[in-house]
Amino acid sequence: MANEKICIFCGESPSFFQRDSIKIAGDSFTCCKTCYENLSGLDEIEICRESMRLGLVPDRTKVENYIEELIRKRREREEFVATAEAKRPRCPMCGAPLTFGYTQTLDASPMVDGFLSSTFDVLPMYCPKCRKIELFAPDLIEIDRHMAYLYNKDNA
Ligand SMILES: [Zn+2]
Ligand SMILES: [Zn+2]
Repeated sequence: MANEKICIFCGESPSFFQRDSIKIAGDSFTCCKTCYENLSGLDEIEICRESMRLGLVPDRTKVENYIEELIRKRREREEFVATAEAKRPRCPMCGAPLTFGYTQTLDASPMVDGFLSSTFDVLPMYCPKCRKIELFAPDLIEIDRHMAYLYNKDNA
């Protein structure tokens, strides 16, 4: 068990008011304010690696496995995003990648003569280059998780 009064990064013993806490591989550790500020701008993997530097982490194997898991998840995420962008529909006019707009309800009553429902939902994509608009069925983003990712990204 690590000494709870000692900063896991520098080994110093911060006063109560200079004491912060930080999660590493799911466990909470003491961290002094100075180290805490020095860590800002680092991502979780870099923070985990930094915590291993002085050797104050009680269970190095746990942190090493956690880092590997983070790297694996990051790689999976990058592959997912790359696949999504590769699947992004292209403009039929100019070939540029299309951008999702919000799902819209179209009122077709002026065009439909009584029989059919006069409104329907469409999922528009538009070309940022030549302004062409393509319409898709809204369930595209329910049946395809890559398209759902693109939709949410474009409409963020
Ligand atoms: Zn410190
Ligand atoms: Zn175009």
